[in-house]
Amino acid sequence: APEVPLAGALHAPDGEAANCRLFAQLLRQAAQERGARFFFNTPVQSLATGRPGVQLVGQNEPLTADAVVLCAGMASAALLRPLSVRLPLAGMHGYSVTAPLREESHAPQGAVIDPQHRVTITRQGQRVRVSGGAEMAAAGGAHDEATLRTLYLALSGWFPGGALVSSPQVQVWRGARPTLPDGAPLIGAGPTPGLWLNIGHGACGWAHACGSARMLADQLAGRDPGLNAEPFALARF
Ligand SMILES: Cc1cc2nc3c(=O)[nH]c(=O)nc-3n(C[C@H](O)[C@H](O)[C@H](O)COP(=O)(O)OP(=O)(O)OC[C@H]3O[C@@H](n4cnc5c(N)ncnc54)[C@H](O)[C@@H]3O)c2cc1C
Repeated sequence: APEVPLAGALHAPDGEAANCRLFAQLLRQAAQERGARFFFNTPVQSLATGRPGVQLVGQNEPLTADAVVLCAGMASAALLRPLSVRLPLAGMHGYSVTAPLREESHAPQGAVIDPQHRVTITRQGQRVRVSGGAEMAAAGGAHDEATLRTLYLALSGWFPGGALVSSPQVQVWRGARPTLPDGAPLIGAGPTPGLWLNIGHGACGWAHACGSARMLADQLAGRDPGLNAEPFALARF
């Protein structure tokens, strides 16, 4: 907005923002078309090391697979503990608020990062999303009103009138950023043959998603991933 004082900014013309939920849905569709089967609402209670392969134990019949990729976010640490792996995984929780677009010309066209308030504002089609906040709290805790206030203030401060922030369609989401102490994710072979890991992407899981999957797929298939996989290996813990 012209009336908002702006000291300066960096413009990254090649930067992109995208809707990760929509991407995941389209990816699921593409995988299904190629024969993949999905089992939703089917929690895995434990992993048993079979010979050969890994057994997934849940409410249904145990499922044995030649290769299993563990990518259960914060729940991954508990699933690995019985296999004698103590993963120092911490959940840095944050929020996103998604509001319907109010006035096109007052709304962001792409993504804006406000480093002072540590918030990101993105345009998602007919909606505007603001996200931020960092709490080392347990999952399922009460929403922190002060953090949410900062998000609303940043959104209406930078883009006054751009979003319908008091609409009943506003969605507030609280999620974890599963983080490891050195900041790098854990991608590669697990503690037992057939078990592979893709965990701990912190604040960048969506940005890392395709690259991590590519690297893991190469490792799983015995191909050279084309980059040094050591900094991401389990051995560092
Ligand atoms: C507010 C906020 C803003 C963010 N913004 C960005 C951003 O702009 N860019 C970016 O790159 N990243 C961002 N992130 C980080 C990103 O969301 C995470 O890094 C990413 O979601 C991690 O993906 P994941 O698949 O490893 O884990 P999750 O997304 O946590 O997925 C784990 C999955 O495993 C399932 N699961 C768990 N336990 C079991 C079980 N026992 N059996 C079966 N299934 C199980 C869960 O249901 C879940 O579907 C943000 C995070 C937050 C909280």
